[in-house]
Amino acid sequence: MSDNSRPLSSDRLAALRTDIAARREELIALTQDLVRIPTLNPPGADYRRCCEYLGARLAAHGFDVRFIRAEGAPGDTDAYPRWNVVARHEGRQAGACVHFNSHIDVVEVGAGWTKDPFGGTVEDGKVYGRGACDMKGGLAASIIAAESFIRLFPDYSGAIEISGTADEETGGYGGVAYLAQNGWFAPKRVQHVIIPEPLQKDRICLGHRGGWWAEIETFGEIAHGSMPFLGDCAVRHMGAVLHKFETELLPAISERQTKMPVAPDGARRSTMNINAVHGGQEELAKGSTALLSNCVPDSCRLSIERRYLVEESYEGVRGEIAAMLDSLKATRPRFDYALRELNHVAPSMTQPDAPIVQTLARQIEAVLGDAPELIASPGSYDQKHIDRIGKLQNCVAYGPGLLELAHKPDEYVDVNDMLDSAIVMAAALAELLLQQSD
Ligand SMILES: [Zn+2]
Repeated sequence: MSDNSRPLSSDRLAALRTDIAARREELIALTQDLVRIPTLNPPGADYRRCCEYLGARLAAHGFDVRFIRAEGAPGDTDAYPRWNVVARHEGRQAGACVHFNSHIDVVEVGAGWTKDPFGGTVEDGKVYGRGACDMKGGLAASIIAAESFIRLFPDYSGAIEISGTADEETGGYGGVAYLAQNGWFAPKRVQHVIIPEPLQKDRICLGHRGGWWAEIETFGEIAHGSMPFLGDCAVRHMGAVLHKFETELLPAISERQTKMPVAPDGARRSTMNINAVHGGQEELAKGSTALLSNCVPDSCRLSIERRYLVEESYEGVRGEIAAMLDSLKATRPRFDYALRELNHVAPSMTQPDAPIVQTLARQIEAVLGDAPELIASPGSYDQKHIDRIGKLQNCVAYGPGLLELAHKPDEYVDVNDMLDSAIVMAAALAELLLQQSD
């Protein structure tokens, strides 16, 4: 244990355990209520209703509640306004602020459900529904944790914040990014952030890889398909691009290992996915018996998703692909291309010795009996905005639920996992916000 650790007394931990365990039914009901508000994104439905539900509950527990609309953010319209809620509870003395941030949006339902996706069915100790795991269960656990802590230790120092934010599933621009731009995550206001994403109750997620999405277009010249030599085939040019990727880029990037503990192991290196390729004429509708006309394609577009490491740079990732395209332009007759960036997310990694990591690690061990696994995520989440825009590096993801269930049919969260992680969250509040002599 490091020198600055403030071990929680066993009395305090026992009190939190007892209080939270007794609120099992309340935690289930809260999770059900949240699942029953179908905050689908896209389009960004029912955000206001969900924020008002959270605001009413937290105001009744002494929180100061603010509703913030991300006006002008992508997708913000009067039909689908991007509402967020931030609730703050002040302790009796000055001290650090611990913030729990959860996104309220959920992804589309998709096929294959045997349960009502917005019913909140409870069966065998699990709450089912779209968003139960990702991440309304984590949001509910953090609310129960904060309420229990405040009730048992009303004289604490510092502040507790709980936010419900929009649009994480589509980049977070109408949610955490907007709040960070407006000072809500400034290090002078907030010192510790826990994002209760479903990373499992015994793991702490330090951050995520970067991502760069781009479209490459190759050009050709249209001509009659019976005389291709009179034109120039954009699809064949794209074939040369793909050949370069297969023989040069993919082997090179797969050699690059990261020190980040990304789980699963396969994502502990640089990767690139080809998301789509479109060349020549529009595809005919399924079932159509028409024939394509005889034409040499004059355009081919390739969408790529390049996930990169904290050890790599954005400029390097972009430059490497541009250099390969330029080398084709120099050597391949008539080759020409356009490269368009579609989206960029910087990698983010909180240091393992950061206070929030150390505190959660100690409390996971105290509550669950085993030291946690420190991991990083292959895909990104809202930590990027808190880090890059908010300039706050003391942030992790920690919450109940199995990541494999996110976005799947019959998504669920286990009630015992929610209770255990709520106890860990409350114990972390006790370590960070109570004096040893209190
Ligand atoms: Zn999520």
